[in-house]
Amino acid sequence: MHRWLFSALFAALAFSSCAPSGGGGGAVSYKRDYWGHRPGPKGFSTVILDAGHGGNDSGAVSRFTGDMEKTLALDTAERVRAKLSGKVKVVMMRSGDEFIDLDERARRASQRDGAILVSIHYNHSSPGVRGPEMYWWRVDSWGLATRMQRNLESVVPAENGNRGQVRRRLRLTRNATVPSVLVECGYLSNAEEARLCSNPGYRDRLASAIANAILDQQRNGDPSGALPRPINAPPSRPTDPPGS
Ligand SMILES: [Zn+2]
Repeated sequence: MHRWLFSALFAALAFSSCAPSGGGGGAVSYKRDYWGHRPGPKGFSTVILDAGHGGNDSGAVSRFTGDMEKTLALDTAERVRAKLSGKVKVVMMRSGDEFIDLDERARRASQRDGAILVSIHYNHSSPGVRGPEMYWWRVDSWGLATRMQRNLESVVPAENGNRGQVRRRLRLTRNATVPSVLVECGYLSNAEEARLCSNPGYRDRLASAIANAILDQQRNGDPSGALPRPINAPPSRPTDPPGS
């Protein structure tokens, strides 16, 4: 590690240790430490809905239905927005078929203090795997991920071989400075789940599960139970090996 970087790190840690701890009142704002760890938010003002992929990047494409992930993700995000309307401010990362780089998505989300980021995707793997998955990294995102996974599992009729709730250092989960979860609603590579996901009524139930998790977190903060331990790791880079 370069000496200047070490000095910068030390300065940041020293600063964070004497930063005042937030809280009180309706909206609770917790200060994060240098690595971005803090309890999950309560009373946040803004939800950034990020429909995954877009433009030339279709994401997964189902060989059973022909559905493209980018289209289902945007449709689901719009349904979540409608369900949150009048309850919390919603900002759409994209509202059309537009490509936005992951680093740019993280940068835009980080500009909004007092917000959370929910990125919506559909999954792809071997044909037998099905069910929702939830990716998160920082301590402040654990509660939201837990609520969201729980809600989605109550909607999906079957699960098989999926990873459930996964702590993974991704550009959206690690690099955005706001609490962030990446929701994989279901596997387009599974024949039955792909057909379900193709159904607007089913996507509407998925959207309700996501919206209710957001509102639960906003009202109540983290679910009961011990917070996960912080993991200090550098920002995620496009050049990182997969799964790192
Ligand atoms: Zn995706």
